[in-house]
Parts: sequence; C-alpha cells; structure tokens
Amino acid sequence: MEDILIKALAFDNQARIYAVTTTEALNLVGDRMSYFPSALDALGRVMSMAAMMGGTLKLEETVTLRIEGNGQIGRIIVDADAHGHIKGYAENPHCHFENANGTLNSKATIGDQGTITVIKDLHLKEPFIGYTPILNGGIAEDMAYYYSVSEQVPTAISLGVLVDEDSRAKVSGGFMIQLLPNATEDIITEIENKVKSLPNISELLSEGYTPLDIIKNIDKNALILDTTPVEFKCNCSKERFARGILSLGSKEIKDIIDEDGKALTTCHFCGNEYFFSKEELIDLYEEAIRNKK
Ligand code: ZN
Repeated sequence: MEDILIKALAFDNQARIYAVTTTEALNLVGDRMSYFPSALDALGRVMSMAAMMGGTLKLEETVTLRIEGNGQIGRIIVDADAHGHIKGYAENPHCHFENANGTLNSKATIGDQGTITVIKDLHLKEPFIGYTPILNGGIAEDMAYYYSVSEQVPTAISLGVLVDEDSRAKVSGGFMIQLLPNATEDIITEIENKVKSLPNISELLSEGYTPLDIIKNIDKNALILDTTPVEFKCNCSKERFARGILSLGSKEIKDIIDEDGKALTTCHFCGNEYFFSKEELIDLYEEAIRNKK
C-alpha cells in the first residue's frame, strides 16, 4: 500500500494531528542496503518523524532531522519536504540488538546519549537550527522534548515499526498531535487521556489501520486538511557531487589525482554511484584554482 501523510484539525480546532506511513520508503532503503532489523526499526522511526515534520512546512521549505547517539547505529539522517518526499540513511545499517523478551532494543541501537539536530530551510537568510539531547533513543519521546524545548509547541508523538522474519518492515508509521496556542486545559487533559488509551502505533498499523483510521480513532470529528503521498526521493546528481569535490579545495583534489587518478562517489541516501575520470578531476582542480583567485 502506498505511504501517505494526513494532516487534520482536531479537538475543537485546538490541535493538529499528523499521521503517516513510511513502510514502502523504508523497505526501499532497507532492501538496497541490507538493513538489520534494529537498524530498520530506528531508521523507520526517524523517517516517519521527518515526514510529519515535512508536513508542518510550506511550499519549498525543507527539514533535515539528524540523530547522533552513542549507540551502534551511528548517525541517522533523514530529509523531508512539504510534498511528501523523504530520503534518509543510517551510518551503520548492520546493527541489531534485542531485549530479553525478543523486542528490538532501540536504546542499544540509537543510544541514550547524544544530540538531535533539526535544520529547517525556511528560505530565510539563515536556516533554523534546533538542538536537543537524546533522552532515551526511542525517538518519539526525544522529539516531543525537542518540540517542547526548541519550538515551544506541546506535542505528543507515537512512532513504530514492525519488522518481519525477512528483516523487512511489515509496517512503519506514526502520529503526532500538536497543541495550537488556543488549547484549553480541558482539551489538553482530553488529549493526554486519549493518547494513553491508544494501543501501540505499530499494533494499530499491523491490524490494518490506515493513517485516516488512526486520526479518526484519536478524534472522530477531526477535519482532514490534507492527504499527501509519501515517497522516497533522492535529488543527487553528478553535478552535486562535482560541487562537493570542488569544495574540498585544490590541494585535496590534486592529492586524489596523484594518488588514485580517479574518484568514485556514492550517495549515502540512495546508493547511486558517480564516477569521475582523471580528466574530469583535472577540470575540477583547475576550477578550484580559478575560484581561489
Ligand atoms: Zn542519491
């Protein structure tokens, strides 16, 4: 089933709800890079989170969510935009930790210390950058803390992935409820009780609940504002990688030419490879020299 993101206005116009599935996008990355179950679980949570953050953006704005914990997976980076496009990867996809009861151990995978960085390109002079510490590595609680501290928006978040025996995601998704400034104490209590009463998101999704069902389950009177297909999309190109090589500077490029005489670059997000011949590297070297002047 196609991944989607749904945005709704709920609780008497006092909150927004976002609900998303990222199963297809996650399996696309997982299959390509042979992700182990714990790594797939971690990337799926971050993907769902970033996709919903993308849903809070306008037009050409973009967001990068970077999780850097002390766990084995290393860095996790996911980019998202307002049109349902996401791309992401984990530094070490080949890590796997289970709890004693057989569930996946996200604390060992992601870590319980480290930094969450949110970079929003809002097409202003400078991007918005927010940092908060990792609290427990489950991502949902960590990101709720981020929203409360960094953006002063009280937010409830649930994220989940269910990995099957073939190390593929059976489901991946999440929801997020954000209070609007006019939210009353009564509504806040109502939302808190509702969130506590809900089963785990991965349970709901594997029972066949769609993002729309989940929103209606949270508030049956919710008004649907927007439904966007979510898809993995990488915007890498040889030109982008050429600019990357150029940014190394003339000395570094000269070293590559002298040592290897060629370069093969790989996109972390989609796995595409771009080859640069000696002639192309010499062109870039000459351009780097010109740029210095
Ligand atoms: Zn790419």
